Amino acid sequence: MSKYKAVIGLEMHCEFKSNSKVFSSARNSYSEIPNENISAVDMAFPGILPVVNKKCVRDALMMSMVLHCKQPEFMYFDRKNYYYPDLPKGYQITQMTEPVGIDGCIEIECNGERKKVFIHDIHLEEDTASLDHYYDTSCIDYNRAGVPLVELVTEPCLNSAEEAVTFLETMRSIYKYCDVSEADTKKGQIRCDVNISIMDWDATEYGTRVEIKNVNSFGGVRDAINYEIKRQSELKDAGRYSEVEQETRRWDEEEGKTIRMRSKVDAIDYKYFVDPNLPKFKIAKEWLEEIKKDIPLLPLERKEKYIRELGLSDYDAGIIVKERNYAEYFEECLELGIDAKTASNWLSTQILGQINEKEISLKEFYLTPTLLKQIVEEVNKGTISSKQAKEVFYKSIDEKKEPKSFITNDMTQISDKRELENIINTILEENRNQVKEYKNGKDNLFDYFVGQVMKNTRGKANPILTKDILKEKLNN
Ligand code: ADP
Ligand code: MG
Repeated sequence: MSKYKAVIGLEMHCEFKSNSKVFSSARNSYSEIPNENISAVDMAFPGILPVVNKKCVRDALMMSMVLHCKQPEFMYFDRKNYYYPDLPKGYQITQMTEPVGIDGCIEIECNGERKKVFIHDIHLEEDTASLDHYYDTSCIDYNRAGVPLVELVTEPCLNSAEEAVTFLETMRSIYKYCDVSEADTKKGQIRCDVNISIMDWDATEYGTRVEIKNVNSFGGVRDAINYEIKRQSELKDAGRYSEVEQETRRWDEEEGKTIRMRSKVDAIDYKYFVDPNLPKFKIAKEWLEEIKKDIPLLPLERKEKYIRELGLSDYDAGIIVKERNYAEYFEECLELGIDAKTASNWLSTQILGQINEKEISLKEFYLTPTLLKQIVEEVNKGTISSKQAKEVFYKSIDEKKEPKSFITNDMTQISDKRELENIINTILEENRNQVKEYKNGKDNLFDYFVGQVMKNTRGKANPILTKDILKEKLNN
């Protein structure tokens, strides 16, 4: 146990998917060409009027329900007033008084232990433009202005860098499962502010909080938290805790440290008021019910189900639920009649190995569950060994040809009962002592006999038939 208790609260921003932006008709899609996806609304031209995107409201409400938050009766937006070149209107449209969700909680699993993370609120807002700084110039790119942004604020209830990162990973996975966001950190779609303080284990009051702004990778979040815990702890150890100031810092990836930006004495007064251009509307109960029906089975619940109903190990189930694509591939295999354990093995080793190596998504992967079934069936029938099955698998994906076309006669195993019986008889003769020991209860010798048969046939003996014959002969 570390000397002090770390207290962490996160503000997680995530850009959501939609055809058009949250308050304008400009396209919401990532573009390398500056100012390609913009409209007069995003540029804040005089007389512009925002219109709220229903899909964005729906997705934000869905997340509010996923997080077990309370939804408001009415939907409306507030203006957060401040001036910055990336905000041409001089205010950001956001939600302050009645966000889409408050007082929620969600379970995470960190190092095999479940933990409830409490959610202060979740709200829908618009992203700002982005600034590109050059040597003596800065350029403004309005593509990002007005992109739907959902901000999630946790209570200060996380206690380690690992828990914080696990929470972020859980949320990213949920966003992707629900198909509300690509949640791609590399595209800057997820950005976090990390708040950290430390306290004595028996203290009743929180310590002084430091805020680290805009950390944009999960690795960065982990390193920044660990750095900050160490920095604050060292000051406290040295009796200089008063030097931990309530301030805003930034994470410098290259230097590997947090650097002070400014002090944060009082909350800035943004002069919030209700945006008069966006009429307040009632959130119908029926609409909420409809949205609720579209919530898929989420990763942790799905994992529990796989363990409980299919007998998968915690580890295997954990891999399959990592992405919705994986889980869907797996379930398609089950529907085709492939046994759960077999499907799980193929998926978590060969298949994920291949898609990672080739850097493709499972959707682009040549060997569909239907094609995988061709291989699995032959193994089950005993026509090919599991080693040969793997060869067929790799040939099939390399040449993009059905597995069937690689399953040839010369692969065929020794499946002739007579022939195998002869081989097995010889082996049992040669291993009389072991046979005696086996009959006296040394059960694990069974695998030894199977091994001998395989060795003798250079792996060509049909394993199922081999086991059947061995059992018959040894148990009589
Ligand atoms: P602000 O708007 O100034 O960032 P908030 O009250 O919205 O302030 O808090 C932001 C985040 O700070 C929340 O995620 C909250 O959990 C976290 N937080 C508050 N107090 C502490 C603390 N003492 N230590 C760590 N995190 C804290
Ligand atoms: Mg903050």
